[in-house]
Amino acid sequence: TPDIRQHMERLAAEGIDVVRVTYPDLIGTERARDVLLDHLPAACEHGLAFCRAVYHTSPQGDVVPVAGGLDAGLPDIAVRPDLGTLVALPWEPGVAACLGEVIDPATGAPAPESPRDLLRAVLARCQDQGLRPVVGPELEYFLCETDPASGGWRRYARDAGVVYTAGLRADPDNHLLRTLRLLRDLRIGTLSGNHEFDGGQFEINLTHSEALSAADRAFRFKAAVKELARREGRLATFMAKPFNDAGGSGFHLHLSCEDEDGRNAFDDPAGTYGLSATARHAIAGILAHAPALAALANPTVNSYRRFGPDTLAPWLIDWGLDNRSAMVRIPPERGSGARLELRLGDASANPYLLIAATLAAALLGIQAGAEPPAPLEGYGYDTAKAALLPMNLSAALDALEADSDLTELLGKDFTASYLSYKRNEVERFGRHVTDWEFTEYAHHL
Ligand code: GLU
Ligand code: MG
Ligand code: MG
Repeated sequence: TPDIRQHMERLAAEGIDVVRVTYPDLIGTERARDVLLDHLPAACEHGLAFCRAVYHTSPQGDVVPVAGGLDAGLPDIAVRPDLGTLVALPWEPGVAACLGEVIDPATGAPAPESPRDLLRAVLARCQDQGLRPVVGPELEYFLCETDPASGGWRRYARDAGVVYTAGLRADPDNHLLRTLRLLRDLRIGTLSGNHEFDGGQFEINLTHSEALSAADRAFRFKAAVKELARREGRLATFMAKPFNDAGGSGFHLHLSCEDEDGRNAFDDPAGTYGLSATARHAIAGILAHAPALAALANPTVNSYRRFGPDTLAPWLIDWGLDNRSAMVRIPPERGSGARLELRLGDASANPYLLIAATLAAALLGIQAGAEPPAPLEGYGYDTAKAALLPMNLSAALDALEADSDLTELLGKDFTASYLSYKRNEVERFGRHVTDWEFTEYAHHL
């Protein structure tokens, strides 16, 4: 088609001879094929074939059953390049990357495991309600370097800097500046970055936008940061709580909604705290569905080690006005900046699923006209003040399964695949003997 030809001519003129077609899998990992430019028209017409179940073995070599996996003979999915998302990779001359649409070749419809399509489905329900969600992602991560003594990984600049220390004192190799500039050139709407609370931990903020674009950008951001760290011989990890002697990494989500006139539907100067009824209902929905939401916002067995008193990660199901110890924080801005910040998610969450589930919970609250309890005052880690979040992945998965309103919005097929995949992870972990157990028991028992 003329459209593909125009893209091909522009890419060739820019010296691009390879297109990397990527898509997020169920857990948000970037999957990709590098396509020689000459093959791009065929890839656009037929889609690129990928094996549907890429998770049939874990990194430990365990077999992980997934829907459409080994039992179904590992059939294909087709991934069709979305040329509207093409961008030259600033660090890899000759290569441009784009996202792909994940299609079931048998039906031509979106594959049930496509997180992008799940988010689109939830967004269509928001649209029915006259709401256009606006999302701003904030992600934290740890940078690791090889430890010559052990041959394993240790925190980069482990003892340097505190939160907001700038420059070489916290980042002797200027990792953050280099990363920020390359992310800017990747054109995914990067705003700023800072050193976080712990040595080797950084936060980078993305601009707010319509929700699908925000998810696409957060997904590309995580993959880019991991790739850039690798190019420095390092490892960037978005694991929730990689170290015992440091805090966890959050994936805070800023959320508001535009109404049909493009006004911020969360703002109301006459409302209590300057918030609209829509904002209150959204907060109430998120609180009501928080235990189920955790299964997607905190998706690994490791995620639950990030929660706890005084962590700045939440511990209770509550909300507060400019209170960083609450699960839902209302930042002080009002007017076009009136919004909520959901602090529940950790960096390991699949951006599409975190955003889709948060919007679904907010929408359920809006549809029900639900009212939140009084906001948290002061210290947010007092269990007398509110209910606890699920404290392990198994409890969160049970809460997801039990939340029929939320799973109806997310889709029965998706929920079943996700639960079976994640329950297998819980079960494999449950059988694994950890270092802690040996240290704790081996000598005196
Ligand atoms: N690292 C904290 C978390 O896990 C957040 C710290 C902050 O507020 O920046 O959510
Ligand atoms: Mg932070
Ligand atoms: Mg934040």
